[in-house]
Amino acid sequence: MVQATALIDGNNFYAACEQSIDPSLVGKPLVVLSNNDGCIVARSSEARALGISMGKPYFKIRHELDRLGVVVRSSNYALYGDMSQRLMETLKSNCEQLEIYSIDEAFVHLSSPFSSDLCTWARQLRAKVHRDLGLPVSIGLGTSKGQAKLANHLAKAIPAHAGVFNLLATSNADPWLQSIAIENVWGVGRELAKWCRLRGIKTALQLRDMPSHELSMKCGITGIRLQHELHGQACLPLVQAPAPKKETCVSQSFRYPINNFIELRQAIATYVVRASEKLRRQRQHAGSITVFTRSSPFSPSFYKKTATAYLDLPSNNTADLLQASLPLTKEIFHPHRRLIKAGVTMRNLHSANYLQQHLLLGYSEEMQERREQLMKTIDHLNLQYGNGTVNWAICGLQPKWRMRRDLLSHASTTCLKQIPIVKA
Ligand SMILES: [Mg+2]
Repeated sequence: MVQATALIDGNNFYAACEQSIDPSLVGKPLVVLSNNDGCIVARSSEARALGISMGKPYFKIRHELDRLGVVVRSSNYALYGDMSQRLMETLKSNCEQLEIYSIDEAFVHLSSPFSSDLCTWARQLRAKVHRDLGLPVSIGLGTSKGQAKLANHLAKAIPAHAGVFNLLATSNADPWLQSIAIENVWGVGRELAKWCRLRGIKTALQLRDMPSHELSMKCGITGIRLQHELHGQACLPLVQAPAPKKETCVSQSFRYPINNFIELRQAIATYVVRASEKLRRQRQHAGSITVFTRSSPFSPSFYKKTATAYLDLPSNNTADLLQASLPLTKEIFHPHRRLIKAGVTMRNLHSANYLQQHLLLGYSEEMQERREQLMKTIDHLNLQYGNGTVNWAICGLQPKWRMRRDLLSHASTTCLKQIPIVKA
């Protein structure tokens, strides 16, 4: 029985999502900007071919992008999150065991019945994802996660592979490993790559074959595992159920620097509302809440402040968390500082399934049920009719400080009002 590990990875994921909801953008150079329309964080392959680099501040290359006819989009995380969920659902229904590794990557463990021809299986899956979601993916196959990552790199880097590469099907994998630079090996960070290069280790093959004791002196058991993985001996198991989150954070930059208490309070309240929704989705309660804000690190009088409150009863009820966090806003506010960012972090997270009750502060069973039902109803309405359909008054009505997203595409997959209209 053949066993294999595959890594399925979306190509230029954010750009591909934009092209998926607006097919007129397919084949055009396109870039996606970070929060507040700051820097380039994603490029279509056509934009890469024009030599546009990642991380470039938009204001610096705006005219150049105009001149080259590059389409620019603000980041639309509601769209990317939804497309990611659809991608993972499609993969789940076509794979035996799946580990969601990132927003656009999943490891898959394969044994029979797919074993007869892994490449055919991978090509069919790739075609299905493209047909159903309009997303291009690359699939790399090996006997370990490390090998699958390398194979995926080769599937993307060499156009002749057409998005699928199976390291198991090669008679000798060494030349392929030799073609991969050390910086492109999964698990090799900037510091380790530098250390390897100083010793003449420049490729994945050289890393695999270098003396193990030297590598273990540098990075211990992790280095040994890395070598085993490159040899095709699986050391890293598939993680199908992710560990529960230890903290949940929501933070964002403002559209313009603020020094007004009402605006800071609206922002903190907005982030608390979002963080509470996340907690409910994760089936967790928070035991403490931290709020923070800061001015620009480039301003002459840099200001940064955090404040924390501990809850008597861990909760994911928005009202409880707002009540705990709003007094903290007074603590972090400074009237003479221009604040550019704020956020909230929920910590001491407990599973909602095993909740400790408080002898003196608890709610009656009936009251608790009503409170939970209210949150469920709000979440349901916001999910069905779009975020913000039911909101808390303290968040403000259309606040001006919200981050800049002037070039935002539609939420075509998550908002009924923004579903594209087809005229036939
Ligand atoms: Mg990707």
